[in-house]
Amino acid sequence: MAATILDGNKIGDQIKAELTEQIRDLKNSGITPGLAAVLVGENPASQIYVRSKVKACESLGLYSEKIDMLADTSQERLLALVDSLNSRDEIDGILIQLPLPPQIDSKRVLEAVDPAKDVDGFHPVNVGHLVAGTPGLVPCTPAGIIEILTRSRIPIKGARAVVVGRSDIVGKPVAMLLLHQHATVTICHSRTRDLPAVAREGDILVAAMGKAAFLTGEFIKPGATVIDVGTNRLTTPEEIRHIFHDPSGPLEKLAAKGSVLVGDVQPEDVKEKASAYTPVPGGVGPLTISMLMSNTVKAARMRRGSRRNTAAA
Ligand code: NDP
Repeated sequence: MAATILDGNKIGDQIKAELTEQIRDLKNSGITPGLAAVLVGENPASQIYVRSKVKACESLGLYSEKIDMLADTSQERLLALVDSLNSRDEIDGILIQLPLPPQIDSKRVLEAVDPAKDVDGFHPVNVGHLVAGTPGLVPCTPAGIIEILTRSRIPIKGARAVVVGRSDIVGKPVAMLLLHQHATVTICHSRTRDLPAVAREGDILVAAMGKAAFLTGEFIKPGATVIDVGTNRLTTPEEIRHIFHDPSGPLEKLAAKGSVLVGDVQPEDVKEKASAYTPVPGGVGPLTISMLMSNTVKAARMRRGSRRNTAAA
């Protein structure tokens, strides 16, 4: 039977439709959730990400602000900006686009964000909530992965889940969320011994490595659900011929567009082996933005909604 494609655009649209209603309700009670996106420097990929985040805010009727800072901005200046955003009531979410330039200590900046406005879920207070399973703001990509699984009715409880990658942004938090959903979770990394055998244990396999098409068929348990977080851009015919069994389609795409996006999972093998999988592009990516919007609405509700309820009580 053909593998099911877990369509991130469709699931993202469902979430956005639900958010539109919640935003309408909040606006009716005088609250317009607001997001400030801070971009330091001119990294082209970061510029695209920030632009699409701000556009998504606008399309949902959220208030948004894009703040551009020069690449040589000092740490003190950036901290002062974060401080001022922390104290502005109409800003519910603060997003500091990573990576930051080398003169800036990213950890210090992320820790300066008010945890109640930390819509990326990177602040140690929110990491603590995630580990403890108490209410807080959860990192967007991992939260999106859980939405894909639950809305696609993929059983998590009791499943063996294997996460390849242990970053603070994806690997660790998604492993924690899967654990809270009662999966039996294994986290793999570059020192894992016999990765193919460990990966093959996964009823759910999450690939978050940043290595183009690294996980070939031998890493996939027949019938597994495969979530591919990786985004890797191929720019030469050699790379494409090396990765694809049938490179004709991707080579045409390369000629037309100048690059081809692939995940961490071999895209032809996954169709053969998995029962369901997220494509790249169009899988996990769209959910990351939807969950950012969702976190902004949640942050507004937690911070300003509770204040309103208290005032009304
Ligand atoms: P990091 O580079 O921070 O982490 C990569 C992880 O993969 C590390 O834990 C590393 O292990 C592990 N790894 C690397 N090589 C191997 C290997 N050969 N065998 C086993 N493990 C390996 O990446 P991120 O978590 O930030 O991102 C991962 C991918 O997801 C990237 O392609 C990124 O672009 C993409 N991404 C996509 C998003 C989306 O919205 N679609 C959002 C966020 C990320 P070790 O710790 O031992 O070094």
